[in-house]
Amino acid sequence: MARIETPKRIRGTQDIFGEEQRRFAQVIDTFERVRRLYCFQRVEVPIFESTAVFARSLGETTDVVSKEMYSFEDRGGDSLTLRPEFTAGIARAYLTEGWQQYAPLKLVAHGPVFRYERPQKGRYRQFHQIDAEIIGAPEAAADVELLVLADQLLRELKIDDGVTLQLNTLGDAETRDAWRAALVTHFEQHEGDLSQDSKDRLTRNPLRILDSKDPKDRPIAEAAPDIDAYLTPEAGAFFESVAKGLDAAGVAWTRNSRLVRGLDYYRHTAFEFVTDRLGAQGTVLAGGRYDGLIGSLGGPETPGIGWAAGIERLAMLLDEPAVEKVDAVIVPMGAAAEARALAIVADLRRAGVAVDMAYRGNMKRRMAKADAQGARFAVILGDNELEKGVAAVKELGPGTQKEVALDALAEALR
Ligand code: ATP
Ligand code: MG
Repeated sequence: MARIETPKRIRGTQDIFGEEQRRFAQVIDTFERVRRLYCFQRVEVPIFESTAVFARSLGETTDVVSKEMYSFEDRGGDSLTLRPEFTAGIARAYLTEGWQQYAPLKLVAHGPVFRYERPQKGRYRQFHQIDAEIIGAPEAAADVELLVLADQLLRELKIDDGVTLQLNTLGDAETRDAWRAALVTHFEQHEGDLSQDSKDRLTRNPLRILDSKDPKDRPIAEAAPDIDAYLTPEAGAFFESVAKGLDAAGVAWTRNSRLVRGLDYYRHTAFEFVTDRLGAQGTVLAGGRYDGLIGSLGGPETPGIGWAAGIERLAMLLDEPAVEKVDAVIVPMGAAAEARALAIVADLRRAGVAVDMAYRGNMKRRMAKADAQGARFAVILGDNELEKGVAAVKELGPGTQKEVALDALAEALR
């Protein structure tokens, strides 16, 4: 008979378990706590959308749309795409669900996103993001609030040390067009020395050349004209307000006038929180203002700003998280005690005590389980104890032991 081959995990996906899972959960728990402090509402949006949602709002020339999307035809013949990010789907919902009435709307979401990329450390095909957006607010105060939220999140995760906020402005539409033209002129003068990818970008998405990691492109990108010379007075004043707001809120930042975002809809504020602790995958949280996005989806011109962070990249930076604590492990010895323990465990759990039961092996092995789970107490239950209506409660740290009446157990273990 032919051997059945074990199925394999799909390249670029992850099974997250144990310590890795605890890190993952800590990022989400902290994000949930902090977003409440900033009065952002949770939102759930679909994992897939019409392909057009992403193609239109991200722009056909971006790496994500041109190379990285998981698109497929469903059984009805519609072209669908697994979300490569949250913003476009949230913007679509804002339009189709009539959320304009709540503007300005402060939202967060988290969950899996999908990009067909070459997998490596910190880069997966299914990864996970936390995401924050403010839709319908043109004020610089929104940019500031969103950045202070990001900063507090990193502080509460205790990874702010060694992570730098790099800030730039892409100006308004007028600024961006003028700067883009100047960049094209500059890059055309050096076209022969550019990498093949950047030669392609020159016509499709010249701003992206600034972002190229190819060593051939770096000196040319470094010598490119700065946006500052092209900033309209309004765009300059907007950037100034954001910068002043961050200073007032005590958020440290540095200017990176080479920082661009890959997506076409970005205007004004663009930013990345960057670390040197993750090698080439050093951007942990990134975003910006996308005032052109909702218009490009066919909606009324609506300002918006947002950011997303890779949960895996944040999780890698955390200190080792504590294991989940168990209050007690019940160690029943003998058939009668085991039967009785089932009821005791159920009662304790209903009373809010986190308790597990050791029902395998001899006494020593059962006590070892209590130790391995980091339980505060082992509750030993044998025939003697049952007869007296008590349990022997051993506090595993100090190793002290005392008898506790069964009906007072919950109290004693809490
Ligand atoms: P990169 O330059 O690393 O490809 P990006 O600019 O494509 O990042 P964004 O679209 O801004 O990334 O996504 C926001 C965040 O999501 C990133 O800062 C990063 O933390 C995370 N991220 C992006 N792509 C991946 C991936 N393939 N695997 C894991 N995390 C990712
Ligand atoms: Mg990318």
